[in-house]
Amino acid sequence: METKDLYKILGVSRGASQEEIRRAYRRLARRYHPDANPDDPEAEERFKEIQHAYEVLSNPESRRRYDQGPATFFGGERSAGNGGGFGGFSNLSDIFDTFGDVFGRGGRGRRSASRGDDVTVSVNLGFREALSGVTTRVSAPVEEECSTCGGTGAAPGTFPRTCPECGGRGTSSQDQGFFAFSSTCRRCGGSGTVIDRPCPTCRGSGRVRRARQVTVRIPSGAKDGMKIRIPGRGGAGRNGGPRGDLYVVTRVASHPVFERRGDDFVVELPVSFTEAALGAQVEVPRPEGGTLRLKIPAGTQDGKQFRVRGAGAPRPRGEGRGDMIVKIRVVVPERLNRREREILEAFADVHDEDVREELFRRVGEVR
Ligand SMILES: [Zn+2]
Ligand SMILES: [Zn+2]
Repeated sequence: METKDLYKILGVSRGASQEEIRRAYRRLARRYHPDANPDDPEAEERFKEIQHAYEVLSNPESRRRYDQGPATFFGGERSAGNGGGFGGFSNLSDIFDTFGDVFGRGGRGRRSASRGDDVTVSVNLGFREALSGVTTRVSAPVEEECSTCGGTGAAPGTFPRTCPECGGRGTSSQDQGFFAFSSTCRRCGGSGTVIDRPCPTCRGSGRVRRARQVTVRIPSGAKDGMKIRIPGRGGAGRNGGPRGDLYVVTRVASHPVFERRGDDFVVELPVSFTEAALGAQVEVPRPEGGTLRLKIPAGTQDGKQFRVRGAGAPRPRGEGRGDMIVKIRVVVPERLNRREREILEAFADVHDEDVREELFRRVGEVR
């Protein structure tokens, strides 16, 4: 049974105000929360103590009873062995529920510490901005604890009180002991407390939604649809739980010429029919500025693709860069002057390649 001083557990004096108790609880619960101390049984034990101490001391009624005598309150040494050892404490199941909440985190009721919501926002980036990386600010609509009521949901100067319907259990039980079949209390909706005068700011929920400005570093080479996680910048936790995370999803603008395919760029490169036939050194523009030189071999066909290693986008996670994929588009002159026509006719006379021979051969092969 509980023998430790609940005030000592929270590190506050016996005369501490409700606000001081709440603050001490929040600070300690954050530090010892199991999510913040994975696989640390000592922290978990400590967290349960803190949670328990807060349950008792945050409620003026149970605090008064505790102040009158912890021994009778908890059935300590003085009442040990006494058949009605828990006498004078009608809310024992309340304490059990408190522990039940700790064990079954995320179960029911507002009183258990739970992690805040994850929030996702998108950020629009220019094509080149995404390549170079940028530090930008996003406005994230996150849930915060209401500052008017300190998250209690009760109007300033008032406090939530134990639900009279269920005695704070949050469930209406069928009178078969602590682990009896039970359903959620209709009066308090399972929270175990009722609010007589709701806080005017949050209307009793204890939570408000706020646009929070968060600075986010977009790495160079960010891709469209990339998810950047910013830990602890999501919604505020409940009852001392840790904050959720913020996810920033990148929306990268398209480019009129370059297509992003992962870390690669794809570009269609016009090449004159003589360059394609004779071979050439050609310049290819780069999206970040400047050019690269590409050697087109003689006899390059339309649609042929060349891969230029390391001329793509920087890899946002890892080393180096992607590639530039250059798709050749052979351009045929639309108009010829007389001299050009004569030259090409002379060429056609000597060049007797039948470019459709293969096509007809394959058609003829089909049975
Ligand atoms: Zn409020
Ligand atoms: Zn209730």
